[in-house]
Amino acid sequence: MSHPARTVYLDNAATTAVAPEVIEEMLPYFSRYYGNPSALYELGQQARNAITDARERIAAHLGANPPDLYFTSCGTESINWALKETMFAYSQNGRHLITTSVEHHATTHSCDWLKKRGYEVTYLPVDQYGMVDPAQFEAAIRPDTVLASIIYGNNEIGTIQPLEQLIDVARRHGVLLHADAVQALGNLRIDVTKLDVDLLSASGHKFYAPKGVGFLYIKKGLRTRSFLDGGAQERKRRAGTENVPYIMGMAKALDLCMANFDERVTRETVLRDHLIKRVLAEVEHCRLNGHRSLRLPGNANFSFEFIEGESLLLSLEQRGIMASSGSACASGSLDPSHVLLAIGLPHEIAHGSLRLTLGRDTSRADIDYTVEALKEIVAHLRQMSPLYEDFVAGKKQLSARK
Ligand SMILES: *Cc1c(COP(=O)(O)O)cnc(C)c1O
Repeated sequence: MSHPARTVYLDNAATTAVAPEVIEEMLPYFSRYYGNPSALYELGQQARNAITDARERIAAHLGANPPDLYFTSCGTESINWALKETMFAYSQNGRHLITTSVEHHATTHSCDWLKKRGYEVTYLPVDQYGMVDPAQFEAAIRPDTVLASIIYGNNEIGTIQPLEQLIDVARRHGVLLHADAVQALGNLRIDVTKLDVDLLSASGHKFYAPKGVGFLYIKKGLRTRSFLDGGAQERKRRAGTENVPYIMGMAKALDLCMANFDERVTRETVLRDHLIKRVLAEVEHCRLNGHRSLRLPGNANFSFEFIEGESLLLSLEQRGIMASSGSACASGSLDPSHVLLAIGLPHEIAHGSLRLTLGRDTSRADIDYTVEALKEIVAHLRQMSPLYEDFVAGKKQLSARK
């Protein structure tokens, strides 16, 4: 492939580039302070103190008590732990779990796993914007409902759920609530104490820390057990030697995100709206997926009629633009994303979907370059589409008859 003029990374919901300051923060913990945090000598204590410091810093950003944060290997682990171990620990209260039809696979596949073991799962429908209705949530609660798991900010269509209201419903019915905040953290202000959420999952690589580190917040007093059996790390709740450098990196990444929070989020939102406005105005037969305003600052998701998302991605890549289609994590599979189907898109429209997710490094020039490329690519792909030909021919016939 020839080298494109420009490289534009618009897949920040898939992962983000590690911030240089984060790398800086991590380096000493690979070499100088390499001790095992469980060791009793000073080298171990230094590592242990570092983790304590990271936990306090992250907790401060979240309004959490530091001991209620447990470091994990990723968002997926946090979600598996939250769902499986909470359902186990409270199984004498019931075996029913409620979630939504727009969750990440970490949640849906954990639910499948529980279903095979005799648990029951209700998937709440969403409206055309991907929004859950608190009244429908309330109606789905049964006497044997133990837990609800809600994706706070959607990784595909960006929709932000009315989490406060959903937690309020859960509270009134004595149901526990887990929030998948993997996309939300760094993009929304989150205070776990004010929210009164029971469990909350996050992952470092979605906010400029490396891949392979995350955490689970577990409210004090909640019953759970260690998801991994082994040593006594993380107050005997998550065995395995702590990933000290990555934990330090994650703390630094969140410090950075929160230091210029308003400025960064405003800037990204303005750019995103510029992108949405231009695409909707300048590309025919195209729609925005997700909620117009209650959406993650960096997320834009479009469907283009008469277009295959995969061809769109290939053509964009030839121009140096990296994005994602309607089946992000299921690459290799041709099934359209369950999220796009849940908001009511027909299969053929869902197939022509494109997710562009901005990050802290995205510039206005990147967006304008992408819109220009998109206009040309969509026009070109449609010229080759028999469906589009039929559509245009049908329209001509219609106007001839008038
Ligand atoms: C990325 C993501 C996950 C999984 O996190 P990993 O750290 O990649 O395992 C879970 N939920 C959402 C909403 C995500 O975007």
